[in-house]
Amino acid sequence: MSSTVLVASPSLLNEMEVAYQNSFVSPCPPHTLFAARKNGTVITAYHSGKVLFQGAGAEAEAGKWEAKGASETKKKEKKPASASTLPEGFKNWSVIGSDEVGNGSYFGPLTVVAAYADRSQLALLKELGVKDSKNLTDKQIISIAKDLITFLPYSSLTVWPEKYNHIQPTMTQGKMKALLHNQVLLRALQKIEPQKPEAILIDQFAQEKTYFSYLKAEKEIVNKNVFFATKGESHHLAVAAASIIARYSFLKGLEECSKIAGLPLPSGASAQSDVAAAKVLKKGGMPLLNKVAKLHFANTEKAKKIAGK
Ligand code: MG
Repeated sequence: MSSTVLVASPSLLNEMEVAYQNSFVSPCPPHTLFAARKNGTVITAYHSGKVLFQGAGAEAEAGKWEAKGASETKKKEKKPASASTLPEGFKNWSVIGSDEVGNGSYFGPLTVVAAYADRSQLALLKELGVKDSKNLTDKQIISIAKDLITFLPYSSLTVWPEKYNHIQPTMTQGKMKALLHNQVLLRALQKIEPQKPEAILIDQFAQEKTYFSYLKAEKEIVNKNVFFATKGESHHLAVAAASIIARYSFLKGLEECSKIAGLPLPSGASAQSDVAAAKVLKKGGMPLLNKVAKLHFANTEKAKKIAGK
């Protein structure tokens, strides 16, 4: 039997409840918000926001809600993290981890951070709530990051939209990221001298070979004890910490861009971004948009249409 689990926001959950109210299973099963049966599919919603679709039409039924913004939890879990190359006990090593934030967001900068987590600090990091930032709210991220930057050795680089738009036509995003990761790793290594990490873990965005081919022309290349893993933050707290600080830095950058634009700019790259970009265009045209958005995204053309330019 096919089954799909979605996670829905409170408002979407509400919408589902209304949509299925004529198909409710009665009595309502214990510990659920509601259960419904529709066209051979059983839909069970939980207070946590998780909604389980079971039966022949599960995928199609779930798909309707996915289109409205519910996210599939299973899909993410299906993709196995490539951790096979990490040595045993890696989680407990002293590691510099690096990650970037903002490359998928139309508005705001691209931020890359490398952070060093010594073995002796791992318990403290856990205590402070360091974990996969995708499971944290922005508010939690800001609060944890503010703690982290007081004691954790880290290095951060921010590429503002204007600079990004200047570089982007001549360089792939992959190469740009590789150069930035290499830079923050170099700086982090310098920062902790004479200490040396047992390893470096880069949240993987390119194949190892490709990554190093991007760095060919660099004077200094960090390549000793370097490991790559997708979902790096789940393999070492150093990457999780780097990711949290990068997200914090990105959010501050987005706020800065909002000030420049004179209106609140959303993160991500959705229809909401198109509408905001159209407003920016009306205010200050391309020169203003160039200061706050990554222009090569498809959002730019959509915004031009909305603005009638
Ligand atoms: Mg990443």
